Amino acid sequence: MTEEIYDICVIGGGINGVGIARDASGRGYKTLLLEQKDLASATSSKSTKLIHGGLRYLENYDFKLVRESLLERDRLYRMAPHIIWPLTFILPHEKSIRPFWLIRLGLYLYDFLSLSSKRAPLKFSKSTHLPNGQKAIQYQDLWVEDSRLVILNVKSARDMGATIKTYEAVQSTLWQKDHWVVQTEKSTYHARFLVNAAGPWVYRVLEQNNLRTEQTPSVRLVQGSHIIVDRLYPDNHCFILQQSDKRIVFSIPYEENYTLVGTTEIEIAGADQKIAITEQEKKYLLNIINHFFKQSLTDQDIRFDYAGVRPLWDDGESSKKQSARQVTRDYKFIEGPNILSVFGGKITTYRVLAEQALHKIDNLNIPKTGQKFYAGAWTDSKPLAGGDFPPDQKDRLILDFKSRFPFFSDRSCRRLVTAYGTDAFLMFDRGTGHDLGEEITTAEIDYLIKQEWAKTAEDILERRSKLCYHLSDQTKARIKNYMEQQKL
Ligand SMILES: Cc1cc2nc3c(=O)[nH]c(=O)nc-3n(C[C@H](O)[C@H](O)[C@H](O)COP(=O)(O)OP(=O)(O)OC[C@H]3O[C@@H](n4cnc5c(N)ncnc54)[C@H](O)[C@@H]3O)c2cc1C
Repeated sequence: MTEEIYDICVIGGGINGVGIARDASGRGYKTLLLEQKDLASATSSKSTKLIHGGLRYLENYDFKLVRESLLERDRLYRMAPHIIWPLTFILPHEKSIRPFWLIRLGLYLYDFLSLSSKRAPLKFSKSTHLPNGQKAIQYQDLWVEDSRLVILNVKSARDMGATIKTYEAVQSTLWQKDHWVVQTEKSTYHARFLVNAAGPWVYRVLEQNNLRTEQTPSVRLVQGSHIIVDRLYPDNHCFILQQSDKRIVFSIPYEENYTLVGTTEIEIAGADQKIAITEQEKKYLLNIINHFFKQSLTDQDIRFDYAGVRPLWDDGESSKKQSARQVTRDYKFIEGPNILSVFGGKITTYRVLAEQALHKIDNLNIPKTGQKFYAGAWTDSKPLAGGDFPPDQKDRLILDFKSRFPFFSDRSCRRLVTAYGTDAFLMFDRGTGHDLGEEITTAEIDYLIKQEWAKTAEDILERRSKLCYHLSDQTKARIKNYMEQQKL
């Protein structure tokens, strides 16, 4: 039997790995994606969920990164308007931290850097006041359902021929004659080129396989945590709370009933330790809320929390910098013979990161043995799954969905169209199946198993959706039972 040889094997099903797998499949590379757990199970579901230029990076003079991110902001909005939408930010002025003129100037610059012919219809910044008379500045960026952005990219890669394997950790990679032999816990694969997009584990993958060279930068692992509390205020805007330690903390209306507060920044030694919010981080965030919103919340008021790790590449300058806050969020590729490793990055820049990775790979003349859909760079204007509608037509789509599937309440219609966009219509083409409770139907669960690689109830409740924050324990148990019956 001749063994199947993939053109590219991507290690890591976070946003960077799946972005590269999608772009590569479109260009005709026969692509394999290997993820050790669930898609988006690491950093890419633990972010603050903003598609933003990164206002605070201006303070580090990271103008290139801000400009690139702002251009990506416009592109991503058009690619997936169901899971991405505008969010208004209010930045209260704190006299003792930064002068008002400096912040105003920063936002003029931010507006200026965002100028382009295809700018998303976001409002420019303006000065305003809080109800207590405090000066503030208002501006807009975008919100993204981070884990769904990952899934949509994988669907697109699969539709163009990529093979996707989840819950399959890469254990070793060995170059043999003219290709890599990639050993996972379940199988052996062969590929001509490797992409190491293992996020916080990028360094470990290189080290374990003796692929580290002098050029390999070190990574600084910085944990960021969020807490979720009951809704703190009725308005739909996000507050940016500046702190005297120069950090900023976001408070964002979240999942209707909650407020998401984050993020902290603490350096950790390795991504193998349990990644979880510390008591100290909880206290830090609670203090900030209590001070700004004049509340007296305690640990008991934290409904949920999550933590993620940023793999920031150490650009040499970084080690001289004192705080993780100042380390660049830009990305870097490290190339070795037949391997490319991704260091750093942001959700916001994943598409352009993938495009640049593919530009490098294209120059290596690796054979393209898959079906070729596009000749070169192609991802900047093609919608992601379910996103093939104009951004201002989402409410119209929800109404259409409601008239087609009157069985669902208005709330469910909004949830389904927000998660799946136009694909929500396909999901129920052959009926809704039966209701597992709270309008979660077997048709939806079947779809998530067959079309979105869901293998456990947690995959569905935490990453294909955010239903974990809404459903009763009974409904969650019924979903779990139903999935167990499917013998996945
Ligand atoms: C707290 C926090 C807030 C953030 N907020 C924002 C934000 O608002 N906006 C923004 O643009 N960016 C934000 N970021 C940055 C962004 O989340 C990350 O840059 C991005 O998610 C990194 O994606 P990744 O694919 O590189 O890594 P990951 O998402 O971590 O993916 C790497 C994957 O590789 C897999 N893997 C590792 N080893 C193996 C192996 N041996 N075999 C198979 N698979 C393996 C892992 O399981 C993992 O799924 C934030 C980051 C943090 C931590």
